[in-house]
Amino acid sequence: MKTIFEKSSGVGNDYVGVDGVGSDIKELEQLIPENLLRKEPIGLPQLSELEVMRHYKELSDRNFCIEKGFYPLGSCTMKYNPKVNELLASLEGFANLHPLQSDEDSQGALELMYNLQEKLKYITGMDAISLQPAAGAHGELTGMMVIKKYFEVKGEAQRTKVIIPDSAHGTNPASAKMCGFDIVEVKSNSRGQVDVEALKELVDDSVAAIMMTNPNTLGIFEEQVLEISKLMHDNGSLLYYDGANFNAIMGWTNPALMGFDVVHLNLHKTFATPHGGGGPGAGPIGVVEKLKKYLPSPIIEKQGNLYVRNYNIEYSIGKVRSFYGNFGVLVRAYAYILMMGTNLKLASADAVLNANYIKEKLKGVYDLPYDEPCMHEFVLSGEKQHHQGVSTLGIAKRLMDSNCHPPTVYFPLIVHEAIMIEPTETESKAVLDEFIETMLKIAKEIETNPDEVLKSPQKTPIKRVDETLAARQPNLVYKNI
Ligand SMILES: *Cc1c(COP(=O)(O)O)cnc(C)c1O
Repeated sequence: MKTIFEKSSGVGNDYVGVDGVGSDIKELEQLIPENLLRKEPIGLPQLSELEVMRHYKELSDRNFCIEKGFYPLGSCTMKYNPKVNELLASLEGFANLHPLQSDEDSQGALELMYNLQEKLKYITGMDAISLQPAAGAHGELTGMMVIKKYFEVKGEAQRTKVIIPDSAHGTNPASAKMCGFDIVEVKSNSRGQVDVEALKELVDDSVAAIMMTNPNTLGIFEEQVLEISKLMHDNGSLLYYDGANFNAIMGWTNPALMGFDVVHLNLHKTFATPHGGGGPGAGPIGVVEKLKKYLPSPIIEKQGNLYVRNYNIEYSIGKVRSFYGNFGVLVRAYAYILMMGTNLKLASADAVLNANYIKEKLKGVYDLPYDEPCMHEFVLSGEKQHHQGVSTLGIAKRLMDSNCHPPTVYFPLIVHEAIMIEPTETESKAVLDEFIETMLKIAKEIETNPDEVLKSPQKTPIKRVDETLAARQPNLVYKNI
């Protein structure tokens, strides 16, 4: 008998090929140690197809999704993902292509990845893109590794600090720290922007980079970004742009124009590929010319008429993920970008308009700590309602009774009782008006009958859970409720 399991010849991976599937099962059994062979039937429930279908249909009915209702989850851009993207990602030539097939055999997929790199270069203004990182935080880590390597090669390894504003997404300090940097926080000023005077105090030759989000997580555009980039560059430091949420600026400006050197994008936020629940994502990074030689390998390149994977990158930080990124997500994002074309600019305009519309209708009833024109999102405070007996958590739970996913709450950390609302461009005025009405109704209810609000959610399959217990001792037994 030939060996049934053998190492494939593919590019040094631990990929194991199975030759013998479909051959005599008894032969396979002989290879399994006696003590590992099952003696009794496993006792799986015997169910009809209909029963299984009912089970999954019910589970899906219990789940909340954008196709079911409004999902204003700030910072997360829960926009509608056109279903044609799903269709295209499931085309046989994409879905069944093996990642170890040769370049010659994979021209379509490589062309798509190359073209996507080009589109993302155009959108971000960067000079080179790596599609490899599998999520936003993964992109941040990759970007920070590039920055670290750049300074090592340059002989400036004494740059051990990364400056991060106090409004930043939690992944920013986490990624920089994982990469071995020390985090230095810079405060925001009274207008919710980086305090440039405070920043000047922090800048010296131990600073490798600043990580910024612009518009920041308050939904406010950092007006002094050019002054900040000059300050950092004059100091020999680099600027990292957290572009997880690009929904406010597509086609209007880009990180290169603002003076950034590295950027990551979340294709699973801005570029209409599904996300949530820890599913596959894509967090490509873009870099300026001088950082190109540090990118993860391979980069997809065009040589003559052939698209190739180039592993030969001078100071590459190596690979940050198996193969070439979450290819199915890349297909969806590329389809979306092609479908939208220059309408991406309109999408950003509508995202900003929708956010400002809701903000103007809710301010006064809810506190608005930073009363500025906003970009794609804005942050209210539930402080007043908290004093009336219902915290922001209660408001979030009450929204669930109106078929609305709660906004992001208690983030960013610099706003007490924060409620972060991002409507996105894919909602109609009717939906926005309904949401505004619901939010106003909840504020009224809190004034007149807070106990009723505290009983929420009342209409969801699961009511209020003990959040600590649910996290520490989850009871995942299926109950037919
Ligand atoms: C979502 C988000 C991230 C992290 O992205 P993941 O894909 O969840 O890792 C980083 N920064 C900002 C501003 C975000 O909104």
